[in-house]
Amino acid sequence: MKKIKKKFERSIRHFQEAVKIIPGGVNSPVRAFKSVKMNPVYIGQGKGSRVVDVDGNEYIDYICSWGPLILGHANPTVVQAIKDTAEKGTSFGAPTELETQMAQMVVERMPSVEVVRMVNSGTEATMSALRLARAYTKRKKILKFEGSYHGHSDSLLIKAGSGVATLGLPDSPGVLEQTAEHTLTVPYNDLESVALACEKFGDDIAAIILEPIAGNMGVVPPAPGFLEGLRSLSDQYGIVLIFDEVMTGFRVGYHSAQGLYHITPDLTTMGKVIGGGLPVGAYGGKREIMEMVAPVGPVYQAGTLSGNPLAMAAGIATLEQMTPEAYDELDQKGARLAEGIRQNAEEIGIPYHINRVGSMVCLFFTGEKVISYDQAKMADTERFAKYFRLMLEEGVFLPPSQFEGMFVSTSHSDEEIARTIEANRNALKQL
Ligand code: PMP
Repeated sequence: MKKIKKKFERSIRHFQEAVKIIPGGVNSPVRAFKSVKMNPVYIGQGKGSRVVDVDGNEYIDYICSWGPLILGHANPTVVQAIKDTAEKGTSFGAPTELETQMAQMVVERMPSVEVVRMVNSGTEATMSALRLARAYTKRKKILKFEGSYHGHSDSLLIKAGSGVATLGLPDSPGVLEQTAEHTLTVPYNDLESVALACEKFGDDIAAIILEPIAGNMGVVPPAPGFLEGLRSLSDQYGIVLIFDEVMTGFRVGYHSAQGLYHITPDLTTMGKVIGGGLPVGAYGGKREIMEMVAPVGPVYQAGTLSGNPLAMAAGIATLEQMTPEAYDELDQKGARLAEGIRQNAEEIGIPYHINRVGSMVCLFFTGEKVISYDQAKMADTERFAKYFRLMLEEGVFLPPSQFEGMFVSTSHSDEEIARTIEANRNALKQL
Protein backbone atom coordinates (compact mmCIF):
# COMPACT_ATOMS: atom_id res chain seq x y z
CA MET A 1 0.00 0.00 0.00
CA LYS A 2 1.50 3.35 -1.04
CA LYS A 3 1.86 5.86 1.77
CA ILE A 4 0.46 9.28 1.03
CA LYS A 5 -0.55 12.03 3.42
CA LYS A 6 -4.18 11.41 4.10
CA LYS A 7 -6.82 14.01 3.49
CA PHE A 8 -10.14 13.83 5.30
CA GLU A 9 -12.00 16.68 3.62
CA ARG A 10 -15.15 14.84 2.74
CA SER A 11 -15.31 13.10 6.14
CA ILE A 12 -14.98 16.47 7.86
CA ARG A 13 -17.64 18.09 5.68
CA HIS A 14 -19.99 15.22 6.26
CA PHE A 15 -19.47 15.29 10.01
CA GLN A 16 -20.31 19.00 10.05
CA GLU A 17 -23.68 18.15 8.50
CA ALA A 18 -24.28 15.17 10.76
CA VAL A 19 -23.69 16.98 14.06
CA LYS A 20 -26.54 19.32 13.21
CA ILE A 21 -29.11 16.55 13.27
CA ILE A 22 -27.61 13.52 15.05
CA PRO A 23 -26.38 13.79 18.69
CA GLY A 24 -22.63 14.23 18.36
CA GLY A 25 -23.01 13.29 14.70
CA VAL A 26 -23.03 9.58 15.50
CA ASN A 27 -25.38 6.75 16.37
CA SER A 28 -22.98 5.18 18.88
CA PRO A 29 -20.61 7.35 20.96
CA VAL A 30 -17.19 5.77 20.26
CA ARG A 31 -17.66 6.49 16.55
CA ALA A 32 -17.20 10.21 17.26
CA PHE A 33 -13.41 9.63 17.67
CA LYS A 34 -13.49 12.01 20.64
CA SER A 35 -10.80 10.30 22.67
CA VAL A 36 -8.41 10.23 19.72
CA LYS A 37 -9.00 13.93 19.18
CA MET A 38 -9.93 14.03 15.53
CA ASN A 39 -13.01 14.10 13.36
CA PRO A 40 -14.52 10.71 12.65
CA VAL A 41 -13.57 8.99 9.43
CA TYR A 42 -16.61 8.15 7.29
CA ILE A 43 -16.36 4.78 5.64
CA GLY A 44 -17.57 4.32 2.09
CA GLN A 45 -17.01 0.61 1.63
CA GLY A 46 -15.24 -2.49 2.84
CA LYS A 47 -13.96 -5.69 1.32
CA GLY A 48 -12.15 -8.44 3.21
CA SER A 49 -9.79 -6.85 5.72
CA ARG A 50 -9.88 -3.46 3.98
CA VAL A 51 -12.08 -0.41 4.27
CA VAL A 52 -12.03 2.70 2.10
CA ASP A 53 -13.17 6.02 3.53
CA VAL A 54 -15.26 8.60 1.68
CA ASP A 55 -12.11 10.52 0.73
CA GLY A 56 -10.70 7.42 -0.94
CA ASN A 57 -8.13 6.52 1.76
CA GLU A 58 -7.70 2.78 2.19
CA TYR A 59 -6.99 1.03 5.47
CA ILE A 60 -6.41 -2.39 6.92
CA ASP A 61 -9.33 -2.54 9.33
CA TYR A 62 -9.11 -3.87 12.89
CA ILE A 63 -12.51 -2.62 14.05
CA CYS A 64 -14.36 -5.11 11.88
CA SER A 65 -17.64 -3.57 13.00
CA TRP A 66 -16.51 -4.07 16.64
CA GLY A 67 -16.34 -7.81 16.32
CA PRO A 68 -19.10 -9.17 14.11
CA LEU A 69 -17.05 -9.37 10.90
CA ILE A 70 -14.94 -12.39 11.75
CA LEU A 71 -14.72 -13.17 8.01
CA GLY A 72 -13.97 -9.57 7.07
CA HIS A 73 -16.13 -7.18 5.07
CA ALA A 74 -18.59 -8.24 2.39
CA ASN A 75 -17.71 -11.92 2.54
CA PRO A 76 -19.08 -13.23 -0.79
CA THR A 77 -20.97 -16.17 0.74
CA VAL A 78 -22.52 -13.97 3.42
CA VAL A 79 -23.51 -11.31 0.89
CA GLN A 80 -25.03 -13.96 -1.39
CA ALA A 81 -27.01 -15.42 1.53
CA ILE A 82 -28.37 -11.98 2.38
CA LYS A 83 -29.31 -11.33 -1.26
CA ASP A 84 -30.99 -14.70 -1.72
CA THR A 85 -32.94 -14.28 1.49
CA ALA A 86 -33.95 -10.69 0.74
CA GLU A 87 -35.39 -11.82 -2.60
CA LYS A 88 -37.87 -13.93 -0.63
CA GLY A 89 -38.93 -11.14 1.73
CA THR A 90 -37.17 -9.39 4.58
CA SER A 91 -39.43 -9.96 7.59
CA PHE A 92 -42.65 -11.80 8.28
CA GLY A 93 -43.46 -11.66 11.97
CA ALA A 94 -44.11 -15.38 11.70
CA PRO A 95 -41.53 -18.10 12.35
CA THR A 96 -39.08 -19.13 9.62
CA GLU A 97 -36.93 -22.22 9.26
CA LEU A 98 -33.81 -20.08 9.39
CA GLU A 99 -34.46 -19.36 13.07
CA THR A 100 -34.41 -23.04 13.98
CA GLN A 101 -31.30 -23.57 11.90
CA MET A 102 -29.56 -20.75 13.75
CA ALA A 103 -30.72 -22.09 17.12
CA GLN A 104 -29.35 -25.53 16.22
CA MET A 105 -25.97 -24.04 15.35
CA VAL A 106 -25.85 -22.07 18.59
CA VAL A 107 -26.82 -25.07 20.70
CA GLU A 108 -24.25 -27.24 18.94
CA ARG A 109 -21.40 -24.77 19.44
CA MET A 110 -22.12 -23.00 22.72
CA PRO A 111 -21.52 -25.72 25.32
CA SER A 112 -23.92 -24.52 28.04
CA VAL A 113 -26.81 -23.51 25.81
CA GLU A 114 -29.73 -25.95 25.63
CA VAL A 115 -32.37 -23.45 24.55
CA VAL A 116 -31.86 -20.09 22.85
CA ARG A 117 -33.96 -17.03 22.06
CA MET A 118 -32.92 -14.55 19.36
CA VAL A 119 -33.14 -10.79 19.90
CA ASN A 120 -31.81 -7.78 18.00
CA SER A 121 -28.79 -6.54 19.94
CA GLY A 122 -26.39 -7.43 22.73
CA THR A 123 -28.14 -4.86 24.90
CA GLU A 124 -31.44 -6.66 24.53
CA ALA A 125 -29.76 -9.99 25.23
CA THR A 126 -28.22 -8.95 28.55
CA MET A 127 -31.29 -6.98 29.63
CA SER A 128 -33.51 -9.99 28.97
CA ALA A 129 -31.12 -12.42 30.65
CA LEU A 130 -31.11 -10.29 33.79
CA ARG A 131 -34.89 -10.10 33.89
CA LEU A 132 -35.00 -13.85 33.56
CA ALA A 133 -32.40 -14.41 36.29
CA ARG A 134 -34.33 -12.12 38.62
CA ALA A 135 -37.56 -13.92 37.89
CA TYR A 136 -35.97 -17.33 38.32
CA THR A 137 -34.27 -16.57 41.64
CA LYS A 138 -36.91 -14.11 42.92
CA ARG A 139 -34.00 -11.87 43.92
CA LYS A 140 -33.20 -8.26 43.09
CA LYS A 141 -29.49 -7.63 42.98
CA ILE A 142 -26.99 -8.30 40.27
CA LEU A 143 -23.23 -8.28 40.44
CA LYS A 144 -21.08 -6.96 37.61
CA PHE A 145 -17.46 -5.99 37.18
CA GLU A 146 -15.91 -2.55 36.88
CA GLY A 147 -15.02 -1.66 33.31
CA SER A 148 -17.20 -4.38 31.82
CA TYR A 149 -19.78 -3.35 29.27
CA HIS A 150 -22.99 -5.25 28.76
CA GLY A 151 -24.94 -2.79 26.63
CA HIS A 152 -26.85 0.27 27.73
CA SER A 153 -29.81 -1.03 29.74
CA ASP A 154 -30.26 0.78 33.07
CA SER A 155 -29.09 -1.91 35.50
CA LEU A 156 -25.89 -2.42 33.56
CA LEU A 157 -24.78 1.17 33.01
CA ILE A 158 -22.96 1.24 36.32
CA LYS A 159 -19.16 1.53 36.22
CA ALA A 160 -19.31 0.44 32.61
CA GLY A 161 -16.54 0.02 30.06
CA SER A 162 -16.45 0.65 26.30
CA GLY A 163 -17.74 4.10 25.28
CA VAL A 164 -18.54 4.96 28.89
CA ALA A 165 -14.88 4.36 29.75
CA THR A 166 -13.62 5.97 26.57
CA LEU A 167 -15.48 9.19 27.28
CA GLY A 168 -14.62 8.99 30.98
CA LEU A 169 -18.29 9.32 31.89
CA PRO A 170 -19.60 8.75 35.40
CA ASP A 171 -22.55 6.41 35.73
CA SER A 172 -25.24 7.64 33.41
CA PRO A 173 -27.79 10.25 34.48
CA GLY A 174 -31.29 8.97 33.87
CA VAL A 175 -30.63 5.68 35.64
CA LEU A 176 -32.81 5.66 38.75
CA GLU A 177 -31.09 5.31 42.10
CA GLN A 178 -33.52 2.53 42.88
CA THR A 179 -32.15 0.67 39.87
CA ALA A 180 -28.49 1.48 40.51
CA GLU A 181 -28.70 0.37 44.14
CA HIS A 182 -29.37 -3.18 43.01
CA THR A 183 -26.21 -3.33 40.88
CA LEU A 184 -23.13 -4.34 42.84
CA THR A 185 -19.77 -3.75 41.18
CA VAL A 186 -16.43 -5.26 42.06
CA PRO A 187 -13.04 -5.27 40.29
CA TYR A 188 -12.57 -7.76 37.46
CA ASN A 189 -10.43 -10.78 38.33
CA ASP A 190 -10.89 -10.08 42.06
CA LEU A 191 -12.48 -13.22 43.43
CA GLU A 192 -12.07 -12.13 47.01
CA SER A 193 -14.29 -9.09 46.44
CA VAL A 194 -16.92 -11.32 44.86
CA ALA A 195 -16.76 -13.64 47.86
CA LEU A 196 -17.20 -10.69 50.23
CA ALA A 197 -20.16 -9.36 48.21
CA CYS A 198 -21.71 -12.82 48.34
CA GLU A 199 -21.19 -13.08 52.09
CA LYS A 200 -22.96 -9.78 52.55
CA PHE A 201 -25.69 -9.94 49.89
CA GLY A 202 -25.56 -13.53 48.59
CA ASP A 203 -29.19 -14.32 49.36
CA ASP A 204 -30.34 -11.34 47.35
CA ILE A 205 -28.05 -11.68 44.33
CA ALA A 206 -29.95 -12.96 41.30
CA ALA A 207 -27.05 -12.99 38.86
CA ILE A 208 -23.36 -12.53 38.40
CA ILE A 209 -22.82 -11.21 34.89
CA LEU A 210 -19.40 -10.97 33.31
CA GLU A 211 -17.46 -10.98 30.09
CA PRO A 212 -15.49 -14.23 30.46
CA ILE A 213 -12.73 -12.37 28.63
CA ALA A 214 -13.17 -8.68 29.28
CA GLY A 215 -13.16 -6.81 25.98
CA ASN A 216 -14.50 -3.40 26.88
CA MET A 217 -11.62 -2.11 29.01
CA GLY A 218 -9.17 -3.14 26.35
CA VAL A 219 -8.72 -6.91 26.37
CA VAL A 220 -8.29 -8.52 29.79
CA PRO A 221 -8.30 -12.32 30.07
CA PRO A 222 -9.63 -14.03 33.18
CA ALA A 223 -6.95 -14.79 35.79
CA PRO A 224 -6.39 -18.49 36.46
CA GLY A 225 -9.10 -19.72 38.83
CA PHE A 226 -11.31 -16.64 38.43
CA LEU A 227 -14.05 -18.25 36.33
CA GLU A 228 -13.91 -21.47 38.39
CA GLY A 229 -14.28 -19.39 41.55
CA LEU A 230 -17.30 -17.56 40.17
CA ARG A 231 -18.89 -20.86 39.20
CA SER A 232 -18.49 -22.28 42.69
CA LEU A 233 -19.66 -19.11 44.48
CA SER A 234 -22.71 -19.03 42.19
CA ASP A 235 -23.47 -22.65 43.09
CA GLN A 236 -22.96 -22.01 46.77
CA TYR A 237 -25.34 -19.03 46.87
CA GLY A 238 -27.85 -20.14 44.24
CA ILE A 239 -26.87 -17.30 41.91
CA VAL A 240 -27.43 -17.47 38.14
CA LEU A 241 -24.02 -17.19 36.46
CA ILE A 242 -24.29 -15.28 33.18
CA PHE A 243 -21.46 -15.22 30.69
CA ASP A 244 -21.82 -12.26 28.40
CA GLU A 245 -20.31 -13.67 25.24
CA VAL A 246 -21.65 -10.96 22.95
CA MET A 247 -18.05 -10.18 21.98
CA THR A 248 -16.24 -13.46 22.73
CA GLY A 249 -18.98 -15.76 21.45
CA PHE A 250 -18.03 -17.53 18.20
CA ARG A 251 -14.93 -15.31 18.12
CA VAL A 252 -12.32 -16.81 20.45
CA GLY A 253 -12.95 -20.41 19.46
CA TYR A 254 -15.45 -22.84 18.00
CA HIS A 255 -16.93 -23.30 21.49
CA SER A 256 -16.46 -19.65 22.52
CA ALA A 257 -14.89 -18.55 25.81
CA GLN A 258 -16.82 -21.10 27.86
CA GLY A 259 -15.33 -23.85 25.72
CA LEU A 260 -11.86 -22.37 25.94
CA TYR A 261 -11.89 -22.25 29.75
CA HIS A 262 -14.22 -25.23 30.32
CA ILE A 263 -16.63 -23.38 32.58
CA THR A 264 -20.38 -23.82 32.23
CA PRO A 265 -22.47 -20.73 32.96
CA ASP A 266 -26.23 -20.96 33.57
CA LEU A 267 -27.08 -18.37 30.94
CA THR A 268 -25.11 -16.93 28.04
CA THR A 269 -25.70 -13.76 26.08
CA MET A 270 -24.58 -13.53 22.48
CA GLY A 271 -24.56 -11.17 19.50
CA LYS A 272 -22.07 -9.78 16.97
CA VAL A 273 -20.61 -12.79 15.06
CA ILE A 274 -23.92 -14.70 14.93
CA GLY A 275 -25.43 -11.83 12.95
CA GLY A 276 -22.64 -11.76 10.35
CA GLY A 277 -22.75 -7.95 10.41
CA LEU A 278 -26.51 -7.57 10.68
CA PRO A 279 -28.30 -6.53 13.89
CA VAL A 280 -28.58 -9.49 16.24
CA GLY A 281 -28.46 -10.71 19.81
CA ALA A 282 -29.38 -13.91 21.60
CA TYR A 283 -29.63 -15.34 25.07
CA GLY A 284 -29.77 -18.93 26.08
CA GLY A 285 -28.80 -21.54 28.60
CA LYS A 286 -30.30 -24.13 30.87
CA ARG A 287 -33.66 -25.39 29.73
CA GLU A 288 -35.11 -25.07 33.23
CA ILE A 289 -34.37 -21.34 33.30
CA MET A 290 -35.07 -20.57 29.63
CA GLU A 291 -38.48 -22.20 29.80
CA MET A 292 -39.62 -19.42 32.10
CA VAL A 293 -39.63 -17.17 29.00
CA ALA A 294 -42.99 -16.44 27.33
CA PRO A 295 -44.91 -18.13 25.80
CA VAL A 296 -43.80 -21.21 27.80
CA GLY A 297 -43.44 -19.25 31.02
CA PRO A 298 -44.41 -15.90 32.52
CA VAL A 299 -41.27 -13.82 31.81
CA TYR A 300 -42.14 -11.53 28.94
CA GLN A 301 -39.77 -10.72 26.13
CA ALA A 302 -40.57 -10.14 22.46
CA GLY A 303 -39.40 -8.42 19.27
CA THR A 304 -40.93 -7.38 15.95
CA LEU A 305 -37.70 -8.11 14.08
CA SER A 306 -36.28 -10.82 16.37
CA GLY A 307 -34.87 -13.75 14.39
CA ASN A 308 -34.97 -11.57 11.30
CA PRO A 309 -34.38 -13.69 8.17
CA LEU A 310 -31.58 -11.49 6.82
CA ALA A 311 -29.71 -11.56 10.13
CA MET A 312 -30.23 -15.32 10.45
CA ALA A 313 -29.01 -15.93 6.90
CA ALA A 314 -25.91 -13.75 7.40
CA GLY A 315 -25.17 -15.41 10.74
CA ILE A 316 -25.61 -18.95 9.43
CA ALA A 317 -23.41 -18.21 6.41
CA THR A 318 -20.77 -16.84 8.78
CA LEU A 319 -20.86 -19.72 11.24
CA GLU A 320 -20.75 -22.29 8.44
CA GLN A 321 -17.38 -20.91 7.37
CA MET A 322 -16.02 -20.77 10.91
CA THR A 323 -14.82 -24.35 11.30
CA PRO A 324 -12.49 -25.40 14.14
CA GLU A 325 -9.63 -25.13 11.62
CA ALA A 326 -10.64 -21.57 10.76
CA TYR A 327 -10.43 -20.68 14.46
CA ASP A 328 -6.95 -22.23 14.68
CA GLU A 329 -5.78 -20.15 11.74
CA LEU A 330 -7.33 -17.03 13.20
CA ASP A 331 -5.61 -17.68 16.51
CA GLN A 332 -2.27 -17.91 14.71
CA LYS A 333 -2.91 -14.61 12.96
CA GLY A 334 -3.69 -13.00 16.31
CA ALA A 335 -0.54 -14.50 17.82
CA ARG A 336 1.66 -13.23 14.98
CA LEU A 337 0.22 -9.74 15.24
CA ALA A 338 0.62 -9.57 19.02
CA GLU A 339 4.16 -10.94 18.89
CA GLY A 340 5.18 -8.45 16.18
CA ILE A 341 3.83 -5.55 18.20
CA ARG A 342 5.52 -6.87 21.33
CA GLN A 343 8.88 -7.07 19.62
CA ASN A 344 8.52 -3.53 18.28
CA ALA A 345 7.60 -2.08 21.66
CA GLU A 346 10.42 -3.95 23.32
CA GLU A 347 13.02 -2.79 20.77
CA ILE A 348 11.82 0.80 20.76
CA GLY A 349 11.60 0.87 24.54
CA ILE A 350 8.00 2.06 24.94
CA PRO A 351 6.25 1.00 28.17
CA TYR A 352 3.66 -1.50 27.02
CA HIS A 353 1.50 -4.41 27.99
CA ILE A 354 -0.16 -6.68 25.43
CA ASN A 355 -3.15 -8.84 26.17
CA ARG A 356 -4.48 -11.27 23.62
CA VAL A 357 -6.98 -14.09 23.45
CA GLY A 358 -7.30 -15.56 19.96
CA SER A 359 -8.11 -12.77 17.53
CA MET A 360 -8.73 -10.14 20.22
CA VAL A 361 -5.54 -8.15 20.69
CA CYS A 362 -4.85 -5.09 22.83
CA LEU A 363 -1.74 -2.94 23.22
CA PHE A 364 -1.88 -0.93 26.45
CA PHE A 365 0.48 2.00 26.84
CA THR A 366 1.53 1.06 30.35
CA GLY A 367 4.46 -0.95 31.61
CA GLU A 368 2.26 -2.61 34.24
CA LYS A 369 0.38 -5.85 33.86
CA VAL A 370 -3.30 -5.21 33.09
CA ILE A 371 -5.69 -7.56 34.86
CA SER A 372 -8.37 -5.09 35.97
CA TYR A 373 -10.01 -1.84 34.95
CA ASP A 374 -7.95 0.17 37.45
CA GLN A 375 -4.81 -1.10 35.75
CA ALA A 376 -6.23 -0.49 32.28
CA LYS A 377 -6.89 3.10 33.32
CA MET A 378 -3.18 3.51 34.11
CA ALA A 379 -2.51 3.36 30.37
CA ASP A 380 -1.45 6.60 28.70
CA THR A 381 -4.54 7.60 26.71
CA GLU A 382 -2.82 10.71 25.26
CA ARG A 383 -0.14 8.46 23.85
CA PHE A 384 -2.81 6.13 22.52
CA ALA A 385 -4.56 9.03 20.75
CA LYS A 386 -1.33 9.99 19.01
CA TYR A 387 -0.62 6.36 18.17
CA PHE A 388 -4.10 5.96 16.69
CA ARG A 389 -3.60 8.97 14.40
CA LEU A 390 -0.15 7.79 13.31
CA MET A 391 -1.53 4.35 12.52
CA LEU A 392 -4.30 5.91 10.47
CA GLU A 393 -1.66 7.76 8.43
CA GLU A 394 0.08 4.41 8.04
CA GLY A 395 -3.14 2.98 6.59
CA VAL A 396 -4.24 0.97 9.61
CA PHE A 397 -7.69 1.56 11.07
CA LEU A 398 -7.69 0.78 14.81
CA PRO A 399 -10.56 1.00 17.26
CA PRO A 400 -10.41 4.67 18.29
CA SER A 401 -9.96 4.04 22.03
CA GLN A 402 -7.38 2.62 24.42
CA PHE A 403 -10.23 0.71 26.04
CA GLU A 404 -11.11 -1.44 23.04
CA GLY A 405 -9.32 -4.36 21.46
CA MET A 406 -8.32 -4.98 17.85
CA PHE A 407 -10.32 -7.62 15.99
CA VAL A 408 -8.49 -9.76 13.46
CA SER A 409 -10.56 -11.47 10.76
CA THR A 410 -9.90 -14.55 8.64
CA SER A 411 -9.39 -12.13 5.70
CA HIS A 412 -6.32 -10.51 7.23
CA SER A 413 -3.52 -12.00 5.13
CA ASP A 414 -0.02 -12.71 6.39
CA GLU A 415 1.21 -9.78 4.30
CA GLU A 416 -1.35 -7.47 5.85
CA ILE A 417 -0.37 -8.55 9.32
CA ALA A 418 3.29 -8.01 8.45
CA ARG A 419 2.38 -4.59 7.04
CA THR A 420 0.48 -3.77 10.26
CA ILE A 421 3.51 -4.72 12.35
CA GLU A 422 5.67 -2.46 10.18
CA ALA A 423 3.13 0.37 10.57
CA ASN A 424 3.16 -0.21 14.31
CA ARG A 425 6.97 0.08 14.35
CA ASN A 426 6.85 3.35 12.41
CA ALA A 427 4.17 4.74 14.71
CA LEU A 428 5.84 3.69 17.96
CA LYS A 429 9.10 5.32 16.85
CA GLN A 430 7.30 8.64 16.49
CA LEU A 431 5.69 8.63 19.92
N1 PMP B 1 -22.04 -7.11 25.82
C1 PMP B 1 -20.77 -7.01 25.39
C2 PMP B 1 -19.72 -7.87 26.01
C3 PMP B 1 -20.45 -6.12 24.37
O1 PMP B 1 -19.18 -6.04 23.95
C4 PMP B 1 -21.47 -5.34 23.80
C5 PMP B 1 -21.19 -4.36 22.69
N2 PMP B 1 -19.91 -4.09 22.37
C6 PMP B 1 -22.76 -5.48 24.29
C7 PMP B 1 -23.02 -6.38 25.29
C8 PMP B 1 -23.89 -4.68 23.71
O2 PMP B 1 -24.19 -5.12 22.45
P1 PMP B 1 -24.98 -4.16 21.41
O3 PMP B 1 -24.04 -3.04 21.11
O4 PMP B 1 -25.28 -5.05 20.26
O5 PMP B 1 -26.20 -3.70 22.12
